[in-house]
Order: sequence, then C-alpha cells, then structure tokens
Amino acid sequence: MKAAVVHDFTQPLVIEDRPVPAPAPHQVLVRIEASGLCHTDIHAAHGDWPVKPAPPFVPGHEGVGVVEAAGDQVRHVQVGERVAVAWLADACGRCDHCVSGWETLCLRQHNSGYSVDGAYAEYALAHGDYVIPVPDGIDPLDAAPLSCAGVTTYKALKVSGAAPGTRVLVSGIGGLGHLALQYARIFGAETIAVDVTDDKLALARELGADHVLDARTQDVAAEVQRLGGAHAAVALAVSNASFQAAYGSLRRGGTLVLVALPAEGKLELPVFDTVLNGTKVIGSIVGTRQDLAEVFRLHALGRTRVIRETRRLEEVNTCFDEVLAGKVSARLVFDLR
Ligand code: NAD
Ligand code: ZN
Ligand code: ZN
Repeated sequence: MKAAVVHDFTQPLVIEDRPVPAPAPHQVLVRIEASGLCHTDIHAAHGDWPVKPAPPFVPGHEGVGVVEAAGDQVRHVQVGERVAVAWLADACGRCDHCVSGWETLCLRQHNSGYSVDGAYAEYALAHGDYVIPVPDGIDPLDAAPLSCAGVTTYKALKVSGAAPGTRVLVSGIGGLGHLALQYARIFGAETIAVDVTDDKLALARELGADHVLDARTQDVAAEVQRLGGAHAAVALAVSNASFQAAYGSLRRGGTLVLVALPAEGKLELPVFDTVLNGTKVIGSIVGTRQDLAEVFRLHALGRTRVIRETRRLEEVNTCFDEVLAGKVSARLVFDLR
C-alpha cells in the first residue's frame, strides 16, 4: 500500500510502499477512501508540540473508508461498513474520564497519526470499538473533515455555552473555523468571524456570519466590545496574538475556548481582569465518539456544508505549504480511491 511517512521533523514526508497490515483480534483494517489534512498533521510532522510523535510514523486522523477485514473480537462494526478513523485511536475504557463521558481526557489513550500510524495511507488499522460508523448518504470526502474539524468545533461550541441570545466569536475560519461558524449558528448564537485572508473573510460572509472582522486591519477586541462583547470566543487560529484578541473580546462572565495549538502556544492572563470579569478559560480537545455521531447526523440532515478541495496523497508536501500559506479554501482532503 501507498503511505506518506514522516521520517524526520525537518524533512518532507516520503511516499512509500508498505505491506498492508493485518488486524489484531480487536482491530479492523480500513481501506481509506478519503483522508483530511488537519493543521495538527503539520504540527505532528514538524514536531511542534512538547509531546512528540516518534518517527517513522504515518500522520492522519480524518480517515474515512470501508472495513475490509476485522479481527474476531470485533462486534461493533462489520466488513463492508464505512467508518471514520479519528484522533482518539483508543482509550482505556475504564478510568473515571472514560466512564463519565470524557474519553478524550483518558491518560491511556492513543492518537491516530501521532502515537499510532494514521490515515495518510491506502489502508489503516484501527480499534474496532473506536472507529465511528459513517451514515449512508454522507460523501466520504465530507465525512473526513467532519471526523476532526467537525467534531472538535462541535464540542468546542458545546462547552462554550453558545445558545440563542449569546454572541460567539470564531477566531480563524480555516478547516476548523468554517465548521465552528456553522455550529455556532446551529446553536442559535449571533456570530462574529475573524480571519486574516480575503478568501476566508468572504467564506465567512457566505456561510452567514453576522459580523466579519479582518484581524490585519481591525482591532478585534475593540470591535467586539463595541458590539457588547462576546459571551464566548473559540480560538482556532494558529497564532498567539489571536488568543489575546479573543480574550480581549469577551464580555463579563464570558468563556474563552482554546482549541488551536501553535508551537510555543502562549496566552498571558491578567489575573485582576480575569477575576473581576469572572472570565472562564477552557481547553477543548476533539470530541467523543458520541459527539462525532451527532456531527455526522447533523450533516446527514443537511445542516452543515464541508468546504474542501481534493488532492492526491503524492501532493502531501505541497499541500502542507498551501495550508501554511493560507491558500486553501478551508480543508484539503486526499482522495485515495
Ligand atoms: P487552518 O490552517 O485550516 O486554519 C487556521 C485559520 O486561522 C486560517 O484560516 C488562517 O487564515 C487563520 N488565521 C491565522 N492567523 C489569524 C489571526 N491572527 N486571527 C484570525 N485568524 C487567523 O487550521 P485548522 O486545521 O483549522 O487547525 C487550527 C488549529 O487547531 C491547529 O493548531 C490545530 O492543530 C488545532 N486543532 C486542535 C484540535 C483540538 O482538539 N484542540 C483539533 C484539531 C485541530
Ligand atoms: Zn485534527
Ligand atoms: Zn480511560
């Protein structure tokens, strides 16, 4: 099978021929049809974060494909079913986090495309209990971005407290942000979209943002305060300055949801303001299998639109450059069919 492999954090990925792996008793072998390029894959390939993956590894955690073979302990999905291989490759299933609906916080989890090989390949192995069925009628090219960008922002909006009558700032209208904006609208909020490229600002308008701000030329915090301040701000831009602006946009009692993970990501919190304003700062990491099932359901009902362009896996290195240059309409998806 063809796979894109990271050998060195400072070198381009290498397209390799690898043997198709065989599933262990608890695993499925997924023939990948579509594989989304999340900005996290770039962080992984560059070794941006304090906890680093161990090369050689195959990135990719927005994998969608068909179960081609299943180990004999797999009960939850069958051969021939379409499933998603998401960031949460598996978790212990027994700790307090796992059993209380917070499997994404499990200390014993593995992550696709990071601590185990992911979906930048024609086949991927996955845990039979942790793949998520993709409902019939959803295009695999849509399902792929929903598997991380979708579920992550859906969860971020859930924890943000967004509701009718609230004002929600979405900072960064990229792969994650273009879906965050749609979920904020589904949750009933007045929406403010922020980005730094003309195309993304136009996309935000097209997706129905109530207010659109250009962080290159506008003082985001001041503009949002003029609107009355944001009840919640969801930080999706790979930029420390954008975190500060999102924080400064909050009204009293507001919630900042941190999602983006730049290398050396830092936010300076003024204690006095945070205390007197009763500000909440929450970190949010992907979403559970249940969250992703809800995301797929909403999409099947026609409530969300995935903005994406397809590429071939061989183009992976130029695709990274395109994302870093902000030249992508929202999400790139490798079509492996
Ligand atoms: P992306 O590159 O598609 O989108 C980033 C967007 O931010 C772009 O549209 C860019 O133009 C915009 N931007 C850049 N600077 C800005 C600024 N100063 N103000 C406003 N917008 C600005 O990336 P993505 O795939 O959406 O991922 C975003 C981040 O989220 C990455 O760091 C990624 O690792 C992280 N992520 C986190 C989780 C999680 O569970 N917490 C999940 C997936 C991705
Ligand atoms: Zn991701
Ligand atoms: Zn656990």
